[in-house]
Amino acid sequence: MTTEKLYSYYLKSRLISTDTRNISEGCIFFALKGDNFNANEFAKQALEKGAAFVVIDEADFALNDKCLLVDDVLTTLQQLARHHRNQLNIPVIGLTGSNGKTTSKELVNAVLAERFKTFATFGNLNNHIGVPLSILSIDNEVEIAVIEMGANHQKEIELLCTIAQPTHGIITNVGLAHLDGFGGFEGVKKGKAELYAYLKEAQGYTFINRDNPHLLEMSQKAGLNKLIYYGTENGNTIKGTLKSSDPFIEVEWTNHDLSSSVKTNLTGSYNFENILAAICIGDFFDLNPEEINAGLSNYQPKNNRSQLTKTDKNTVICDFYNANPSSMSAALKNISVLTAEHKTAILGDMFELGPESATQHELIAKQANESGLNTLVFIGKHFYAFKDKFDGLFFETPAEAATHLQQNSVQDNLVLLKGSRGMKLESLLEYL
Ligand code: ATP
Ligand code: MG
Repeated sequence: MTTEKLYSYYLKSRLISTDTRNISEGCIFFALKGDNFNANEFAKQALEKGAAFVVIDEADFALNDKCLLVDDVLTTLQQLARHHRNQLNIPVIGLTGSNGKTTSKELVNAVLAERFKTFATFGNLNNHIGVPLSILSIDNEVEIAVIEMGANHQKEIELLCTIAQPTHGIITNVGLAHLDGFGGFEGVKKGKAELYAYLKEAQGYTFINRDNPHLLEMSQKAGLNKLIYYGTENGNTIKGTLKSSDPFIEVEWTNHDLSSSVKTNLTGSYNFENILAAICIGDFFDLNPEEINAGLSNYQPKNNRSQLTKTDKNTVICDFYNANPSSMSAALKNISVLTAEHKTAILGDMFELGPESATQHELIAKQANESGLNTLVFIGKHFYAFKDKFDGLFFETPAEAATHLQQNSVQDNLVLLKGSRGMKLESLLEYL
């Protein structure tokens, strides 16, 4: 099966599926394999449900000529996306970083959509499967695309770049995330810098937060020269000042000679840099300040990332989408400066930290203890190991914390609820 042939099938419907629960009539079903499944086994079912073709890599499952046998389904999907990308003559903004990728992607998209027909990665589809699926969702009408790229090990961003082929790029920041897979913080920098290496080679533009010394060092190392800076100092293309972050972020910013200010619906002072990134990219693509500010002020976070939610009893910073030491530390810093009479932090374990796990949990527990909050709740076995060393309520599981919260109601508090995805801290929201 040549890529061109498969591409001609794709062009008939432009619909791709990798999940039999989600088959659209006429789609091509890619039978991917995971640790616990082999979708070749579902090829027949996919056809029955209306797939026009199924791409499989095990001959035993080839039933008829609608089953397209390839060497490897995943690489075929990636190759198809690469081929599609080559037909698209549009700017693609590749976006990676340890924290704030999805938020920045949404903000950049909200801004650019004020002027252009945009495409942005749906949700968090940012990996070796999500990026090709995202690229294959771009139709001919799209004028500019924003593609989130996630990684938890070396060479992943490099691979994603060969698929998305960004013409512009941004690393939001580098932090203590996926330390296990990357091999420590230096490994994170090396892995993320694969985007810079690609942009250097492709002569693309790079947007850089000049306040971040790590990014500056990485950009110098990569030998980048088409750079557009944003940050808090004079001399940047976009200079921003954080005017307020209690509870929502308000930013004053200057491009060239024009000054402007914008109020957003985002909470968390760490979102300041995500907002500046979106301003910088909007400005680069020639949007005027009114358009940029409209995109930012109309954006409402709905994705449990720094989402300020009023319940019947409390105000909750719903930040339980994910957590790592950098974002946890930023979230604690943020709640400690917000105005509220009573503040509670409910923190769940952070995963994928490898040998640094214990130290990082200890540091966060220490920071939480020093943050001046009224109540601290730690959940998970990593935090639990420090129950005798720090103040706070310690529970081994969210279920035990839930029982406690049911019996000891939290009222009229500003509550930070944050932990790794696997901790599923959303289960506690009903008790708050
Ligand atoms: P993922 O790796 O899961 O794709 P992400 O990089 O896309 O994450 P977001 O989903 O945008 O990041 O944000 C997740 C959380 O990270 C937020 O809820 C917030 O707590 C924190 N965060 C967002 N932006 C920043 C930032 N610039 N610096 C530090 N922490 C941040
Ligand atoms: Mg994300």
